[in-house]
Amino acid sequence: MKFFKHIFRNFIFFSTIQTFKNYYFYICKLSLYFGTKEPFFCTFLQKALSPFLKECAKFFVNYFGRENPSVHRRGEEDVIQFHDFGIDVQTYAERGKENDFPLLKKCPHCRAKRPLHRHGYYERNALTPHGDYRIWIVRYRCRECLKTVSVLPSFLLPYFQYTLSAIWQVVKEQLGLTEGTNRAPFLPTKDGIIFYVRRFCRNLSSLHSFFARRWRIIGPIVKKEKERASWWIRTLEEHGLYSVIREMWEDGFRHPFAN
Ligand SMILES: [Zn+2]
Repeated sequence: MKFFKHIFRNFIFFSTIQTFKNYYFYICKLSLYFGTKEPFFCTFLQKALSPFLKECAKFFVNYFGRENPSVHRRGEEDVIQFHDFGIDVQTYAERGKENDFPLLKKCPHCRAKRPLHRHGYYERNALTPHGDYRIWIVRYRCRECLKTVSVLPSFLLPYFQYTLSAIWQVVKEQLGLTEGTNRAPFLPTKDGIIFYVRRFCRNLSSLHSFFARRWRIIGPIVKKEKERASWWIRTLEEHGLYSVIREMWEDGFRHPFAN
């Protein structure tokens, strides 16, 4: 077994070097041919390297069982918790690191009832139809298991750049539930909107099981996906969109736009 591992490791190492060498050779040749035009060179480099990087990522997933070993080190898995700060995105952005961050009394990983201590921040985007913001997300760390927790303001969704209200608005417009009255300057692209609608439709079963368990509510049995989606949009709004998504997340359900 060890022998095979050795062979495999060497194989990966040399084939990576070989791929890299090939790319480098082509890039040099092409840049000479085109007279080393900077923008062209950069885009080409990016494009040329992307299959190589994808191969690297695949290798890491197969070999280490996780996506990026430098980010997810052992004992440092991050979970996301929602928190309602009671303010809008603009105020949250303006307050920066001075926001009223909550005190986490219990670790979501190991359930230890010992307050988690603050463990820095990371920056991310929050896009709205009227402007975009860079905001700070606070991170906590458990003293017992050393794992981390990030606290996401409830106006955002994990891994989505647009705010929940922006996504919600365009999905409703796309399904014909509201009229697109004001053409805001920074709306998601047409493809982006279709992507959100598809994601929402794909997660209807998750909504179905959460509502059945929480309120004994069962969605309509209609074939048309659009009708079902519209019904669930109304039901979510009746129960409070933000609180339902927070509760779903806390109960281990996927949120309505999750992958
Ligand atoms: Zn813990």
